[in-house]
Amino acid sequence: MGPPGVGKGTQAKGIAEHYGIPAISTGDIFRANVRNQTPLGLEVARIMAEGAYVPDEITDAIVRDRLAEPDAADGWLLDGYPRTLGQVEALDGVLAETGTAVDAVISLVADTDLLIERLLKRAELEGRADDNAETIANRMTVYADATDPLLAIYAERGLLVEVDGLGTIEEVQERITRALDDFSA
Ligand code: AMP
Repeated sequence: MGPPGVGKGTQAKGIAEHYGIPAISTGDIFRANVRNQTPLGLEVARIMAEGAYVPDEITDAIVRDRLAEPDAADGWLLDGYPRTLGQVEALDGVLAETGTAVDAVISLVADTDLLIERLLKRAELEGRADDNAETIANRMTVYADATDPLLAIYAERGLLVEVDGLGTIEEVQERITRALDDFSA
């Protein structure tokens, strides 16, 4: 978990590879659907372009299906999910049904102003439709309102691992794997 631009996607892929589990990114799943103009993609394209959240019913169903895929049987890393209280509850429900549980929640921490700068740079490089100044501001607000408060829930459950998100990709990955290894030791 972490605010837009903190490097969740990049780190999720590296960490998942390190532990030999799939990285499941709801953002990537939505983007692929938008790209392929599937019915789901057509439904979520505008929501994403505005920097708003896709409704929980849609997002929860996608994660439920994805976690049931064979490659997720021995573990997974969720990137960008859960993002709302409803999603936390939905994930709890899915995991209870399958007798699994979250081992740890990684929170990547960084200064918001720096992240906005980083996102604007990424917009230039990747041309993402949800990376213009207005959308970025909206995504930050939505994160602060809907998602940041969820960290307290996982802290209370003793699952939260906070990691400084600033540094090179390698530095941050090293911090995360060290924190996770310490956490589970
Ligand atoms: P991300 O790549 O994780 O930043 O996600 C990009 C966009 O996809 C977000 O700004 C949302 O519009 C949508 N999205 C991704 N994950 C979720 C989620 N868990 N709940 C709602 N919307 C999401």
